[in-house]
Amino acid sequence: SAVATIIGIDIGTSGVRAAALADNGDLVEMVSAPFLNADEGRSPSSWWARTSAALTELAAKASLSCVRAIGVDGTSGTVLAIDSAGEPVGAPLMYNDACPDPSIVESISRHAPADSPARGSSSALARAIHLSRQPQVSRVVHQADWILMKLGHDGCASDENNALKTGYDLVAEEWPDWIEWAGLDRRLLPIVQRAGAPLSVTTGFIRNLGVDKTCRFHAGTTDGCASFLATGASQIGDGVTALGSTLVLKLASELPINAPQYGIYSHRVLDFWLPGGASNSGGGVIRSLFGDNRLEELTKRIDPDQPTGLDFYPLPKAGERFPISDPNYAPGLEPRPADEAIFFQAVLEGITEIERLGYERLTELGAARLRSVRTVGGGAKNPVWTRMRQAVLAVPFAASNSTEAAVGTASLILQWQDRQR
Ligand code: ADP
Repeated sequence: SAVATIIGIDIGTSGVRAAALADNGDLVEMVSAPFLNADEGRSPSSWWARTSAALTELAAKASLSCVRAIGVDGTSGTVLAIDSAGEPVGAPLMYNDACPDPSIVESISRHAPADSPARGSSSALARAIHLSRQPQVSRVVHQADWILMKLGHDGCASDENNALKTGYDLVAEEWPDWIEWAGLDRRLLPIVQRAGAPLSVTTGFIRNLGVDKTCRFHAGTTDGCASFLATGASQIGDGVTALGSTLVLKLASELPINAPQYGIYSHRVLDFWLPGGASNSGGGVIRSLFGDNRLEELTKRIDPDQPTGLDFYPLPKAGERFPISDPNYAPGLEPRPADEAIFFQAVLEGITEIERLGYERLTELGAARLRSVRTVGGGAKNPVWTRMRQAVLAVPFAASNSTEAAVGTASLILQWQDRQR
């Protein structure tokens, strides 16, 4: 059987997963250690307990003696403060927590560049500044950075993807001066490397699992970038549509684009830029209108060759950001057809049109032209919807290699190493 050479570790919302890949990219072994409840997902000691359990299981299932690289991805924007011994100070602030102090968000808005992804009420930098104001804080780090330290990385390092929403300047490749003006001592932040780049040779915990002394820690990435890479998308023009609770589009491009009014910002991944946008439309509207149990039955009754012509814009409530930027944008779900299958079809058509418009918007703003689509999320398993989308998007649909962020993180490191050769 294939030999494990790269390990990717994903700290997700529901638990920790670890994937071991072979040099050709094949999955050798994959293990998962779920969080038992929502509190565990918010607890650094549980993140680490699940990570160490997952890796111990991985080492029992596959030899790790040929592993030469290890990296971690975490939820984008989850931050925690640590003391000089690396122990958490207080509770972390999660990716979806608002900064408890609105004056910090306000201060950032006065000092950050107009197009900075660190602006707004969901700013990771605002959370970091808030956490830095506790006593005994020696560093403020991202979730993935801290797991790397627990694994044995001697130092405090992050990657460009995790650092983006904390205000890191990808062009100057530094933490900019305005971060100090906004209220954070930059010396508290980790050093930042390109996502996937090597850091240092492994020491500590991970060496007890049979990893050789030449094996290196690598800078990781965010769950979002990792999920993109997991699909196998890697060329300019490759798009990934996430049909989950919300509709999220990402499109590998030659140039970065930033359009704060649409909530669009761009990560740097390998040798391309990865702009993305999120609509408030998506599966959440489907769930609220039709529940979870009738979808297959309704799908069977849809004839995609007979469009309804209803031109819906399905939203859970008024307000849209991407691909239309209007905080008062009204949901379009009327007139409601008497036949539930026709109603469902019109909702799917509406979300499909938002997807088409979304890719068009990204391209108009300077991203690549869409060349292929891969699909992830609950909606990906609806074959009739897929046919409808293929007809509207008019580009080849490719199968997703994997939906696991852990695989994406390992694949990032593998591709990084391949490109250095
Ligand atoms: P999340 O973003 O919460 O992780 P998932 O990727 O699990 O979401 O996708 C769940 C969403 O997919 C739900 O909102 C659900 O309505 C939608 N969904 C599930 N099955 C189907 C289907 N057969 N057709 C269309 N939508 C579906």
